[in-house]
Amino acid sequence: MQTNNFSIEFYPPKTAEGADKLRLARAKLAGLGPTYFSVTFGAGGSTQQGTLDTVTEILAEGHVAAPHLSCVGGSRASIRAVLEQFRAAGIRRVVALRGDLPSGYGGGSELRYASELVEFIRAETGDWFHIEVAAYPEMHPQARSPQDDLHNFVRKIDAGANAAITQYFYNADAYFKFVDEASRLGVKVPIVAGIMPITNYTQLMRFSDMCGAEIPRWVRLKLASFGDDSASIKAFGLDVVSDLCEKLLKGGAPGLHFYSMNQAAPTTALWQRLAGR
Ligand code: FAD
Repeated sequence: MQTNNFSIEFYPPKTAEGADKLRLARAKLAGLGPTYFSVTFGAGGSTQQGTLDTVTEILAEGHVAAPHLSCVGGSRASIRAVLEQFRAAGIRRVVALRGDLPSGYGGGSELRYASELVEFIRAETGDWFHIEVAAYPEMHPQARSPQDDLHNFVRKIDAGANAAITQYFYNADAYFKFVDEASRLGVKVPIVAGIMPITNYTQLMRFSDMCGAEIPRWVRLKLASFGDDSASIKAFGLDVVSDLCEKLLKGGAPGLHFYSMNQAAPTTALWQRLAGR
């Protein structure tokens, strides 16, 4: 059981050693035949050059690559300049986000929400870019209510996004309900499921607290019970996440987007497990 709409996300490496490691991981992951690789963008433009460099390298290797672009902390002029760089580099798809500024960073944003960014990209560049936006089946942590968040999601699609990628989740029902409700509000674009492999308990708990993804109690307890036994955590994580992917694809999810954390092994193991089903 696989999908032909499958993407893999990286973050821009901060060191030369990290860049080398990412090249190796990418070479292995390219063998799985993803539709495209995406590269995150630090809010406020903190990784702007790293994002562009990584995407340019991926393009030069002959793969499709999509930089993320966040608007928080930026001005229209600075975002226009980034879009121009992207166009000049031959980039045809972007993942458009609001982003989160680190606490204490007071930089003013001319575009407050991702919907305004999508609108701006369309106004500036027409149909040049295929635009993906973020979706939150378990609600964005700052939203007033799930309903409000859903309506804000629809604004991004109405502003001209071509597709969406979800925040990661481990509850397939939350995804199916979200897709159903969005469809009832007229959303016709694909909502691709974001998949976070489980390989490290502490890291997973930290990320999930920050982004509002719920780890089911039974999964949390089981992971905690493995303590430092990393092999058992990985084996159990592979079972849980491959079952989730299978359920999603069987239920009609139009694709999977893997948060690789710049590692080849977890995404490869999941992909191979799915291929065997
Ligand atoms: P928005 O869609 O703007 O929503 C943010 C909040 O504002 C939500 O609570 C929403 O309900 C509310 N809202 C939206 N519009 C309105 C409105 N008109 N009025 C009132 N409230 C409104 N972050 C990065 O910094 N760099 C990355 O590269 C990056 N990549 C990501 C990739 C994916 C697939 C996902 C799911 C997330 C990514 N993030 C990234 C994290 C993201 O930036 C954060 O989750 C951020 O808090 C919200 O971004 P957004 O684009 O979803 O914002």
